[in-house]
Amino acid sequence: MEISILTPMYNEEMNVNPFYEKVTKVLKELNKSYEIVFVDDGSRDSTLKKLKELHSNDPNVKVVSLRKNFGKAAALAAGFEQVKGDIVITMDGDLQDEPGEIPKFLDKMKEGYDLVTGWKTNKHKGSLKRLPSLIFNKLSSKMTKVYIHDFNCPFKAYKNEVIKDINLYGEMHRYIPVLAHWKGYKIAEIKVLNYPRKAGKSKFGSTRLLKGFFDLVTVKYLSSFRSRPLHLFGTLGVLFSSIGVISSIYLFVQWLMGIGIGKRPLLMFAVLMVMIGIQFISIGLLGEMIANNEEKKTKSYSVKEILE
Ligand code: UDP
Ligand code: MG
Repeated sequence: MEISILTPMYNEEMNVNPFYEKVTKVLKELNKSYEIVFVDDGSRDSTLKKLKELHSNDPNVKVVSLRKNFGKAAALAAGFEQVKGDIVITMDGDLQDEPGEIPKFLDKMKEGYDLVTGWKTNKHKGSLKRLPSLIFNKLSSKMTKVYIHDFNCPFKAYKNEVIKDINLYGEMHRYIPVLAHWKGYKIAEIKVLNYPRKAGKSKFGSTRLLKGFFDLVTVKYLSSFRSRPLHLFGTLGVLFSSIGVISSIYLFVQWLMGIGIGKRPLLMFAVLMVMIGIQFISIGLLGEMIANNEEKKTKSYSVKEILE
């Protein structure tokens, strides 16, 4: 199998058939073996019924049906376990991504990249999401040092080995390129067309940005401190305790000189700083214990090949 298309579908009854037809047309022209893997993420409309029809008429269509709505990242993870193609292309099922761009992804992959991600350039004018998403993308690339423009683009191509190597959870699908980059995979970005949604409803609301921010914090934390949490929390702890200790010494000297310190706000501050410091160090030590256990299960490295 050369190519797998992977698409999560949640309440997309109006989009299933047009999506299938457009994608199939593009894939047929490529003259390569392919499969289209749909993951029905617990749809409550006739999406699953339509997917089953496609499956019974076309041997290239595979359907994974989830018991309930688990969210897009989970749907993708479920699909990742099934895909057989050497190259896996993920795209949304709402036709916002242009199937005609698929050959561009394949061309770029031929240059030797492990992951090629899309960059939606023709943003819909006047959309309220534009400024926040610009800030979000800038912040993400600064913090993760993965210098791509668009972290929210669902349209991506991967070598099969990349997805089998990545641990997806929560809403981490946005940061797949980041997770891949840390494992040493080669990443590229290409510009893609993107359309406004024509049928059905968007499933993500305004809380997305806040969640995205938390995911960014997690991703940053895991990448930098996963296997050495005490480096972060210990540093913070020492910093806070030092401030507390220095303040205390200052107060102590004044007390020796006969100045009353019992009612000084600084006393409260000093005690607080020492306590916060000790807490940080304790959290760091707890983190070390967890990391020590985790290390056995999830490797902190990724092997490219072994020559024996
Ligand atoms: N989706 C899904 N499960 C969910 C929400 C969304 O599988 O819980 C799918 C949805 O069917 C679509 C893709 O994820 O194919 C992107 O969703 P949507 O178009 O609502 O997101 P937006 O384009 O607004 O970011
Ligand atoms: Mg969409």
